[in-house]
Amino acid sequence: MTSEKKGSIAVLTSGGDSPGMNAAVRAVVRTALDKGVEVYIIYEGYQGMVDGGDRIVKADWESVGGILHRGGTVIGTARCMEFKTREGRLTAARNLLQHNINNLIIIGGDGSLTGAHIFRQEWLSLLVELMEKGEISNEIAQNHQELNIVGMVGSIDNDMFGTDMTIGADTALHRITEAIDAITSTAASHKRAFVIEVMGRHCGYLALMGAIAGGADWVLIPESPPDVDNWEDRMCEVMQLGRNAGRRDIIVVMAEGAQDQNGRHISSDEVKKILEERLGADTRVTILGHVQRGGAPTAFDRNLGTMMGCAAVDEILAAKADSEPMLIGIRGNRITRTPLMQCVEETQAVAKAIAAQQYDKAMDLRGGSFKEAFRIFRTLVRAFPHQLKEGQRPLRLAVMNAGGPAPGMNTAIRAAVRLGLDKGHTMLGIENGFGGFIAGEIKEMDWMSVAGLASMGGAELGTNRKVPKGSDLYAIARNIEKFKIDGLLIVGGWTGYEAANLMYNERDNYPAFNIPFICLPATINNNLPGSELSIGADTALNNIVWAVDKIKQSAVASRRCFVVEVMGRNCGYLALMSGLATGAERVYMHEEGVTLKDLQVDLHSLISGFKHGKRLALIMRNEGSNSFYTTSFMSALFSEESRDVFDVRQAILGHLQQGGDPSPFDRIQATELASKCIDFLIQESNSEEIPRGAFVGLYGSKTQFFEFDRFPRMIEREFHRPKRQWWMELRPIAKIMSQPGPTPGSTE
Ligand code: ADP
Repeated sequence: MTSEKKGSIAVLTSGGDSPGMNAAVRAVVRTALDKGVEVYIIYEGYQGMVDGGDRIVKADWESVGGILHRGGTVIGTARCMEFKTREGRLTAARNLLQHNINNLIIIGGDGSLTGAHIFRQEWLSLLVELMEKGEISNEIAQNHQELNIVGMVGSIDNDMFGTDMTIGADTALHRITEAIDAITSTAASHKRAFVIEVMGRHCGYLALMGAIAGGADWVLIPESPPDVDNWEDRMCEVMQLGRNAGRRDIIVVMAEGAQDQNGRHISSDEVKKILEERLGADTRVTILGHVQRGGAPTAFDRNLGTMMGCAAVDEILAAKADSEPMLIGIRGNRITRTPLMQCVEETQAVAKAIAAQQYDKAMDLRGGSFKEAFRIFRTLVRAFPHQLKEGQRPLRLAVMNAGGPAPGMNTAIRAAVRLGLDKGHTMLGIENGFGGFIAGEIKEMDWMSVAGLASMGGAELGTNRKVPKGSDLYAIARNIEKFKIDGLLIVGGWTGYEAANLMYNERDNYPAFNIPFICLPATINNNLPGSELSIGADTALNNIVWAVDKIKQSAVASRRCFVVEVMGRNCGYLALMSGLATGAERVYMHEEGVTLKDLQVDLHSLISGFKHGKRLALIMRNEGSNSFYTTSFMSALFSEESRDVFDVRQAILGHLQQGGDPSPFDRIQATELASKCIDFLIQESNSEEIPRGAFVGLYGSKTQFFEFDRFPRMIEREFHRPKRQWWMELRPIAKIMSQPGPTPGSTE
């Protein structure tokens, strides 16, 4: 159905490249085809639009096959001076109209989006001029009176207003965090100091988040220069305290655009000199440069690009002649649309505020969560055991893990212990989950006891899946009294929540349970109520995607179908999101179940696909999707029935999903949530009321606390998952991406 009124859609990438752009291009092409609309790829950004010819190519389903996992942008990007002139844009308009294109989806930075805006404003006058010159017919001009534009931001800097995340920022943060981890280990070996410079001329996002994720000692960002003139003294004082406490390495992370209060640029060499002269530290500088841009996109960036690409096509098809162009963004896992030029203007306002040394304004413009992250980082690096403030009651706060191990547990424990000590309280560590709580395996934690934990996978305090019952509760109550525990933080998954819920319900029988306690969501399964993303799930997702990329590569030349089983118990989150990120043909999960009919339909569609040239197919299966139709059963069935058409291999990914160092996102979330949990415990301990027992999580776009009386109503107890699972809304996208839609113009 190529609409009479609407012309074709074209997609291009422009400005700096960023990982995840390919996912966005793929999603635009496939969504458009699914809706029966003709779609073109413009190669080399605006330059391709001006050059025309073979730079503007009609796309089909296969044009965007096999690009999801690749870094950069496979359709090319360029800076184009001609497009900045009216003459260049006139040529571009003619080239577009030759293909009936008057819908543009642009993936780029604020420069590219500004260019698109100018192009749109001029469009009518360009049409008139082309008509006068006889380069287009009257009819073409009549049918393409408006140019519809939708923007998405591809940028590693995460510097755009109108979206919480830009396509590519998460991948860049992975590169930076890997580098900080690597440098930290060599720094600690030699007792060296390192100054690590990351990208960001007007934006401290990568520096700040990299510093939190890497457990760095200091950060310098353009938006908020050190607030004192003698910042060098403050920095060295904090470093010296760290050394006195036993820390072996010093890591300073700085944005390339770092400056002081007076707007003077601070260079990495300058920081190096300060550390050498004042601390006598053997100091090295590492400027990370273009590695930050490179490499395969993370699961998040692939799925972000995919979600945004789909939304961009919907937006452009819904656009009316007088509607304002929109920027597609994301906020709290939901796609958003904001007027494009408002986003560009607000983004540029940050750079202007920095240049005018209006730092409070710059931080306000960056938004609440950025400011909050900065506050937490500053508190963390200065967190040393402190005296209590006058009038405050010293507390004994305990931290523990519960449930299966999840990457990021250690990060949360480290942040909680240091922030608690900083406020003058005594911190206790309960070892080995509720088993250890029952047995009284409880020790005091000091500042150095959590050194190095920010980046470490696993669970150093130990964890297990025991849920206490009967006399166990008595033992726990006794240990709360014996160790004089005033508040409890449980970092864990389903069984931790079950145990906390039990304590909550037994408060009348065990007065000792009337202390504040809080559960911080940490499980790779992402199956907890009150939290849209639990700590560990992002790491597991990346582990799966990394493994599946390799599995797919192993089979390039053969006709092969892989059935990959992933964890999640009865929650299909990992299966669906990894299926989306790796381009799986089909995702099976417990929420939808599996029937014999499903298997037959899928088998026939696979046979037909392979007969028509398909070389590789991927099926993701959530481990709990069906206890009879197991991975082995499905593989055997497909193998037997497919005969000579394709062969089948199964891959049960197993524990590699739970392992590895936590991803930057998991570390940052773990740190922020731990900070909020410690504040909660302190506040509740000082409350006149019966202290709350609660669970916390990112819910919608903000952190929320839920008291345990709501727990039963929020879960499907039998299946160990929450009733409301936001990501289920992404299933239609996964379907569109995996199945060829109708051919535009055909009558099917
Ligand atoms: P980014 O999109 O990453 O901010 P640039 O600012 O380099 O990157 O812009 C990319 C391209 O967008 C430019 O090379 C140019 O072709 C086009 N462009 C940028 N600004 C304008 C403008 N004011 N008018 C027309 N085209 C522009």
